[in-house]
Parts: sequence; C-alpha cells; structure tokens
Amino acid sequence: MGKPAFWNNTKRFYDLKSFWLNTFGHRVYKLPIDAGFTCPNRDGTVARGGCIYCDGRGSALRQAGPLPAVAEQIRKGRAYYREARHAGRFIAYFQTFTNTHGSPERLRALYDEALAQEDVMGLSVGTRPDCVPDAVLDLLQDYARDRHVWLEFGLQSIHDRTLAALNRGHTAAQFLDAVARTAGRGIRVCVHIIVGLPGESHADILETARVLASLPVQGIKIHALLALKGTVLGDRYARGEIQTVSREHYVGTVCDVLELLPSDLVVQRLTADGYKDIFLGPPWAVNKMAVLNAIDRELERRDAWQGCRSGPEDMR
Ligand code: SF4
Repeated sequence: MGKPAFWNNTKRFYDLKSFWLNTFGHRVYKLPIDAGFTCPNRDGTVARGGCIYCDGRGSALRQAGPLPAVAEQIRKGRAYYREARHAGRFIAYFQTFTNTHGSPERLRALYDEALAQEDVMGLSVGTRPDCVPDAVLDLLQDYARDRHVWLEFGLQSIHDRTLAALNRGHTAAQFLDAVARTAGRGIRVCVHIIVGLPGESHADILETARVLASLPVQGIKIHALLALKGTVLGDRYARGEIQTVSREHYVGTVCDVLELLPSDLVVQRLTADGYKDIFLGPPWAVNKMAVLNAIDRELERRDAWQGCRSGPEDMR
C-alpha cells in the first residue's frame, strides 16, 4: 500500500492546491475578507478578553482605518491574484474574528455581496463552534446547493481542560454538536488545531487528531502555538512561564497527526501567517518554507503519508 493515487500530487498529504485541481480542474484562490465582525469571546457575549493567544487586532486592513466594503476587498484581492498568479476563480474567505456573529439578515447581505462578485465561486466562513445556530447553517446550506461552501471552526484542542486554559469560552461538546448539526448539509467543515498548547502532551494532540478523524470533517489547518506581544500568552512567554515547541517537535507532531487523519481530508495549512510586528516566538516559525520542507522530508524519511495509520473510512 502506498499513498492514494486520487491525490494526483507529488506530496505525502492531500494539500489544498491538489484538492482544487482534482475537484474543479483549475486552481482556486481564497480571498481574505474582513467584514467588520467582532468575536463573542471578546465582546462579552460569551466572555471578554478573548483566547490567551489572540492579539485582538483584526486584519491589517482594519488597523488601517475604516473598512472597505466586501465587494471592494474582493475586487482588490482578485486584481492582485490575477496579476501575480494568473488566477481565475476565487473563494471569498470571511476570515477576521467570528464571521457568523450577526443576524441571519446581516450575514445574508454580506455573503450575497461576496458571491455577486465576478469569478467568486463560493464561501469559506471562519467561526467558533458556539456561534453556528441552525438559522446560520440553514443559510449556508442554501448557498451550498450551487456554490462551494466551507465552514472553518477554530477548535485548537479536543480537551476541555486545554480549552479552559486557553480561555476559548467553548467546550469540546459544543464543537461536536456544531459538527453534527453541520453534517449532511453540503457544507464542508475545516477545523483549526494548534500544536504545543500549554499543558498538552503528545498523547493529547494525537487524541485530538483521532477524534477529528472519526468525524464528518473535510479539512484541517494546523499551526504551532505562537507567542505574540500584547497577549496573555505573550506576556507569560516573555516572563519565561510558557515554552513554545522546537521545530523538530512541531514537524514530528504534524507528521504523527497527518498519519492518523483520513487520506481524503484536505490539508489547508501547516504553518501560521503574519504577525511580524508583534511576533515573539518561536523564532523558527517565521520561516514557513523551511517548516514545510522539513515536514516533507520527515514524511519521506518515515516513508509515511497522510492516512497511513488512520482507520477505515467507513468509520466516519
Ligand atoms: S475565538 Fe478567535 S477571534 Fe475570538 S478571541 Fe479566540 S482567537 Fe480571538
């Protein structure tokens, strides 16, 4: 047995680029959008203060002043990718803070605005597991009938003690409920997890991976815990109270996680972006290409691939 032929790629995991090519026959680019949302874990709906690693600044666009309309953000992003990458089709990625934290009417207006733009073929909506009431899922299900729709859940860990330590403001049970209510609606689910969370063992993150492997989840984003200035975590890191993981540890753990995940689960990201002006550590994380190359090399060294240690797919 070797890596699955349906990936049609030279990698040892099912990356997003290969998924786009296999599904649509062409590249697709995600255009990040800041639609002006807040977060229930910051505005008092769930809690104040937010997750301990969250800088709370929003996008660079938001920091620069009044936000341009969604349509304008898409026009600019589309022009950039057309020029730089000769891109043709796009997903509107509602990325900043919690993009379902609003009335269904407001959400519909924003998503409609995005989908009305030329060459926008779908949506990817970043949110929290405790912020997807059925009315929001009904709305996304409507779009999913003839558009490509992803819902991205920040989870980070399946362990309640870790979620509490991070001040996430939701539980693993709320995540499992959100995934169960999203399933069967034609909406693809992508889950974000973090390697190196305070108090987590290697066994803990492998347990997170095993749980995700058993769920109707179609995508994953993984990154290392990053310490940022101006965050609770950053302050603890600066005082030496919290350690971040080494590159070797991160690479090895990501490979262990990939081995456990189903081979058809789309790996959307294996590093984190941005934050240059407030970045504290770990120092190796700024060189994303080196990290990705190290993951490729480690999988090669092991002669392993995504799913080589996952259970049968009918478990899902
Ligand atoms: S849920 Fe996301 S936006 Fe909200 S506080 Fe946590 S990291 Fe920040």
